[in-house]
Amino acid sequence: MILGPPGSGKGTYASRLRSELGIPAIAAGDILREMAGSETVLGKTVKRYIGKGELVPDSIVIEVFRNRLSRKDCKRGFILDGYPRNIAQARALDRSTKIDAVVLLLVPEWIIVERLSSRRICRNCGEVYNIRFLKPKRDGICDRCGGPFYQRIDDTQEVIRERVAVYERQTQPLIDYYKGRIPFVEFKCEDIDTPPEVAVKEILKGLNQLEPD
Ligand code: AMP
Repeated sequence: MILGPPGSGKGTYASRLRSELGIPAIAAGDILREMAGSETVLGKTVKRYIGKGELVPDSIVIEVFRNRLSRKDCKRGFILDGYPRNIAQARALDRSTKIDAVVLLLVPEWIIVERLSSRRICRNCGEVYNIRFLKPKRDGICDRCGGPFYQRIDDTQEVIRERVAVYERQTQPLIDYYKGRIPFVEFKCEDIDTPPEVAVKEILKGLNQLEPD
């Protein structure tokens, strides 16, 4: 499980860890954004919460994850990115699966704001870039698939502030919830230019040092 504030690199590291570990990375935000794209009552509800930077109701998210984690590709393990995000979700997860490790990303708020306001995402494959700190080889074009970029509707100054507040209020208590029960690997980012490869190497080193149970 990767735990950290918005903009701490959860998605960027999860997609790289997926290639390294050969297990799926399941991003709550990606699943919910896909739901928000559909013109159904449920889709519109999800979109409203995302647009405000608030958490989508537990009744929706818990069910979505219960289904997703029961799929065949999760049998050998999985990386959770953005789930759980509050205590109720963590309790629901406890009832359905066992988490081996928590990767905790610690990032100062100024880096979060800087990163998110210049983040861009490939419309085609979802790869994450940053037009200032993690540039593609060719402007506006994805290195991986050649797709075009877009900016998330919730990557605006006002919504970023709300998302950070929601993290501090609802998600941060998960640190105490898991501490002492599940092994932690902490990665502290103090330099905005830290390349993802460096962070992922550190995280893998931490994971490899954990005692097998
Ligand atoms: P993310 O892509 O992880 O930054 O998530 C984007 C948005 O999706 C969040 O600001 C929430 O509105 C929603 N979201 C993502 N994960 C969850 C979750 N576990 N529970 C509720 N809402 C979520």
